[in-house]
Amino acid sequence: MPVHVVGNVCIDTTFRVDRFPVPGETLNASDHSDGVGGKGANQAVAAARTGVDVRFFAPLGSDPAAAFIRERLKGEFDLDGLSEKPLPSDRSTIVVNRDGENLIVSGVACAADFDPLQETGLAALIARGDFLVMQGNLRATVTDACLRAVKTVGATTILNPSPLSGAAPDLTAVDIVIVNQGEAFEITSEPDPERAARDLLRRGAKAAIVTLGAEGCLLLEGGTVDLIPAVKVAVVDTSGAGDVFCGCFAGFLTKGWPLAQSARLAVAAAALVVGRPGTLEACPSRVELSKLMNTMEAESL
Ligand code: ATP
Repeated sequence: MPVHVVGNVCIDTTFRVDRFPVPGETLNASDHSDGVGGKGANQAVAAARTGVDVRFFAPLGSDPAAAFIRERLKGEFDLDGLSEKPLPSDRSTIVVNRDGENLIVSGVACAADFDPLQETGLAALIARGDFLVMQGNLRATVTDACLRAVKTVGATTILNPSPLSGAAPDLTAVDIVIVNQGEAFEITSEPDPERAARDLLRRGAKAAIVTLGAEGCLLLEGGTVDLIPAVKVAVVDTSGAGDVFCGCFAGFLTKGWPLAQSARLAVAAAALVVGRPGTLEACPSRVELSKLMNTMEAESL
């Protein structure tokens, strides 16, 4: 069974500076680098490293950036689902100061224009029993249409509606919704994660996960609440933890792990990310994820 990840991909250019520039100022960075990012790509890579068959559908531009992205994703999964548009590839400029705070400006022409049902073979490829993972980077109407189309054929839908885009996401075609605590509050106005998760179920989701940073996550399925503590680690850089959680969770579920165990494994995978720098660079390897599954299997015996 494959997992279809549908979303965005971009080039992240990161500049490290001592302090943020003031308006009108030009500042030299102490260091800069290019990498592949975008929530869709991050989650697709994380899912693939659990060992499942990933099909990633995302838009690229027609420029050298598209070739760079293809080159970096080569070997993670099949790249047939990447389509090219007569636009500049999506790109984020990330400025990080010495305190680790960041400013981000993104160009999202490709994601804003992307309609996977019309432009890719997604609709024909999805089959009963498959899994679909989406995020909040595409237009809300497009995301909703994909979720509905995929639900119709009997696939399982997972939505991580981040970044939120104003109106609360439609959850009526969503099996499992994953949000962080801030997003849970923004959607439901409930500061308490359990009450927020209950509200997400009232809005249509069959199960809800609220990630709680260093506290782990809360899973609500039916009437059962499972509070899963985080693995204690020395924090180096938390960026990418949410995407690795979502991508790995989808991968583990697709591999046949039950919901609660998939969430426990995802918590363990996300802890590996916060213990090292970078986003995609910090994503656990196939070997690391396989070790986590072996340990979980041994503990379940
Ligand atoms: P980000 O935006 O930083 O990628 P997020 O805000 O989407 O993440 P979080 O709830 O902060 O989501 O983190 C996702 C998961 O990562 C948590 O459920 C937890 O399992 C793990 N995690 C995050 N921070 C820590 C931490 N300090 N120690 C251990 N695990 C952590």
